[in-house]
Amino acid sequence: MLQGLNRRSFLQLGATAAASALAPRWLHAQAAAPADRIAQARAGALTTPIKTTKLADNVYLLQGAGGNMALQTGAEGNVLIDSSYATAAPKIREAIAAVSNDRADALINTHWHFDHTDGNEAMHEAGFTIFAHEKTRERLSTAQTVKLLGVTTPPAPAGALPLVTFSEAMQVFHNGDQLNLVHFDPAHTDTDIYIHFRKADVLHVGDVWFNGFYPFIDESSGGTIGGMIRAGEKALAVAGVSTKIIPGHGPLGSRAELQAFHDMLAVARDKVAALKSAGASEQEAVAKKPTASLDAVWGKGFMGPDVFTGIVYRTL
Ligand SMILES: [Zn+2]
Ligand SMILES: [Zn+2]
Repeated sequence: MLQGLNRRSFLQLGATAAASALAPRWLHAQAAAPADRIAQARAGALTTPIKTTKLADNVYLLQGAGGNMALQTGAEGNVLIDSSYATAAPKIREAIAAVSNDRADALINTHWHFDHTDGNEAMHEAGFTIFAHEKTRERLSTAQTVKLLGVTTPPAPAGALPLVTFSEAMQVFHNGDQLNLVHFDPAHTDTDIYIHFRKADVLHVGDVWFNGFYPFIDESSGGTIGGMIRAGEKALAVAGVSTKIIPGHGPLGSRAELQAFHDMLAVARDKVAALKSAGASEQEAVAKKPTASLDAVWGKGFMGPDVFTGIVYRTL
């Protein structure tokens, strides 16, 4: 059940409390049996406070147990990006009410993963209409297995499914701003989109960015290292020097920080690709520590260097 996660990298999870506080709880619930991980994540979310940070006149960053959320407020109603865990819904709604007229309007999912969509049904019941990429609806409609984590999620209830979907891009004009919703080619998953609030100049890129550490790439959902690098390039093309960029996990970041993450991924890819094309097996490639020069900066999160190297190798 922990295929791909060796003991060393698992121990690193426990050893890096600061970094793991930023990680989705389903990742650091790895000690539990697969069936319990979702329950553990939900239990943890029940008591995790929501931190609200104002990014622009009417745009906020909301951070709790799941993926980072964004909120646009205004007379036309609230737009929420991602919904965290179902059990976080009451706290998220309190956080929204604290800074807005509390009028629900739209919920946009950055991708299908559980730590970003488990709260969908509760938010839909609270009046939010759910928007997402068409593949997010498709994946949420059936059971999904994230092999590396040994997690299987059941089909989402009807109320959790996006009601408005798109394939390439969509513009939404709302509360005096233009929101550009644009699909990334398969990167972290095959459901990833970014949301750019043009006037506020806030860009939510979901899990194509883990700010400050090696990312999780969901190969079970079509994710690849090359796709992550191209997604970074696409996001960098949209961002200006003062754009506030929200990663799926980790602190709010800048264009320069996203560039550094992108460059790290490119170096890791090149180093692992060199070993693979020279004939190294995955095990041999991992043993050669190809990311050694990057590990001090990027390897202290929940994806240890060896696990990350394995993902890169398999998705080249
Ligand atoms: Zn996530
Ligand atoms: Zn994700």
